[in-house]
Parts: sequence; C-alpha cells; structure tokens
Amino acid sequence: MSLKLKPGVVWGDAYKALVQNCKENRFALPAINVAGTNSLNAVLEAAARNKSDVIVQLSNGGAQFFAGLSLADKHKAMVLGAVSAARHTALMAEEYGVCVVLNTDHANRKLIPWVRDLVRMSEQSIMQTGVPLYSSHMLDLSDEPIGDNLRACEDILPRMFKAGIALEMELGVTGGEEDGIGQDIDEVDNAKLYTQPEEVLAAYDRLSKLGTISIAAAFGNVHGVYAPGNVMLRPEILKASQALVQKTHNLAENPLDFVFHGGSGSDPTDIRAAIDYGVFKMNVDTDTQFAFAKGVEAYVEQHTSAFKYQLHPETGVPAKGIYDPRKWLREGEKSMVDRLNIAFQQLGSVGQSVAS
Ligand SMILES: [Zn+2]
Repeated sequence: MSLKLKPGVVWGDAYKALVQNCKENRFALPAINVAGTNSLNAVLEAAARNKSDVIVQLSNGGAQFFAGLSLADKHKAMVLGAVSAARHTALMAEEYGVCVVLNTDHANRKLIPWVRDLVRMSEQSIMQTGVPLYSSHMLDLSDEPIGDNLRACEDILPRMFKAGIALEMELGVTGGEEDGIGQDIDEVDNAKLYTQPEEVLAAYDRLSKLGTISIAAAFGNVHGVYAPGNVMLRPEILKASQALVQKTHNLAENPLDFVFHGGSGSDPTDIRAAIDYGVFKMNVDTDTQFAFAKGVEAYVEQHTSAFKYQLHPETGVPAKGIYDPRKWLREGEKSMVDRLNIAFQQLGSVGQSVAS
C-alpha cells in the first residue's frame, strides 16, 4: 500500500517514512530557502500545483530577515524568525494540502547556539501542542577536522532525536559561499570537495545509533551558479559510500539518506545519478532568488512611470493599483513558482505527494 501522511510539517517517524518513500521510488524533493511569507507561500503554491511534497528551509540570515532586520538582538531575531516561519508553515501547509520537511540550513560552530535554542523551542512546543517546530536542523562543521565534526553531532543528536527532529550533517566541503558560510571554490583544497567513502562510514558508525541523520556529502558540488567547466560533479562518490556502508553493516540497498547542496545550475544527468544513489533532497536557492528578482524586474520594466510618480505624468491617472507592493511581489512569487515547476520535474517528484 502506498504511503499516506497528514498534510503539514512532518517529523519523527513520518519524516523517516517520507524520506524512505522518496528513495524507494527514485525521486527527490527540492529544498528551497525562504526569507519571508512571499517566498514561503510561493514554495507551498508550487508544491500544491505539482502535487509534490517539499522541503522548506531557512538559513540563519533568512530566519533573521523573517523576524525583521531592525531587531538589535541578532541571535534572538534568528531564533524568533525561525519560530515564526515554522508556525506559518505548519498552519499553511495543511491548508495547501502538502507535506513539508522544515529544515534550518548550514550552522557552523558559532551557530550551534542558534540550533540549540531552536531545539529547546521545539521541546516547549511538544509540551504545549504535542509536536516539534522543525523536521530537521543542519550542523555544518565540515571546515573542522572530522573528529570535531562528529563530536559536535554526537553532542546534540540524542536530544534532537528525543524531540523527533533529524540531523543533517556535512562531510567534505560544498564549495562556494552561502550566507557567510562556506569558502571560495578557488581556495578550497580540491580533495575536500570530494568526500571519502571511509568518512561517510565513520559518520554512519558513530551517529546512526544516536538518532536520525542525513548526510550532505561533497561530490564536487558548489553553492551558486558558475560558468560551465568550473564544477566537476562525481556522484559515483555517493554510490561508493552507499556500497561501503551497505556491505560493512549487511544492510539493504542505499542505506544512507543523502542531501545534494548547490543544486542550482546542475546538469540533469548528474541529478538523476545522485537520486539513484540515495539523494532525497536537493537544495535550490540561487536559481529561485534570481527567478523572484526577474519577476519583479519584468513588472517594474513594464510600469516604470508608476514606480516614479504617484499620478501618471501625462494622464494624471493614479498609479496606486500598479505600485501596490502586492502587485509586484506577486509577480516575484509567480516567477519563482515557474522556476520551481522545473525543479519538481527534474527531481521526479511531480504527482508523488503522500499527503492524504
Ligand atoms: Zn548548502
């Protein structure tokens, strides 16, 4: 019987079932960074339209923006913005009829307190309503020695697991920069762009017994869009890692849950291969940001005078109906939905929603 889940933010066993369903049926879900209700609603709209479930995520900067940039206490704004986004998502995902994996994106060493506070907010939420706020949180200690990386994950994972929250961790380095985290692709040691299967096995051995993990393994992927020729993807690294863990622990095919960072601008053949090797989540940020901007740009271009004068300079007609922010923000949303339609198609998730 095919999987059916209640629409809304998934967590605990429902999260695990949803991920397993993606892998078994060889498709992945796009993970889209949002920074406000405009981008968030556009993601839900696109998911509903494509009859797909979806992954929504907030970077630390996105969470702060959600709360408002004027708040003086940046840490508190990052926590409360993420809580606000979680409440909006939980309420609206049900209404749009889709299952949402809600995640926070890259958190390096100095952002661990942010993740800890969000786990604490989820624990409070469980006491009040029975459900956590987030499906998963990412820790990215990939620029530290692997021992330190794994120790930090071991520290937080049992508490997350108890609250029904999964951990996404990174091995190797995703090139490029995102929200102040990551490194310039020219400066990263090339070997670090390609995770070793032995490192993946070490992470699996130490972490999988403590909770639910997914792994962002580097296979040459980079954040952002670069000119062709700068990026050499090697998804066979994922295949070799799956095979090593499968063999060592005598498990079924594709035991690891892999995450693909830096999905913007990727070649469809590489995407297909990555999905075959157990990727259930592909991050798309750069391309959807650009799509939102293009939608607004086309509208402004078409109505230049309304963005300069409240009354039309020749006809005197009020331009209020044109410069109303709802008009041009909606154009950004629609353009973002168009780009997301492509992502759902590329990842094979169209029509695969498990929301009942
Ligand atoms: Zn990333």
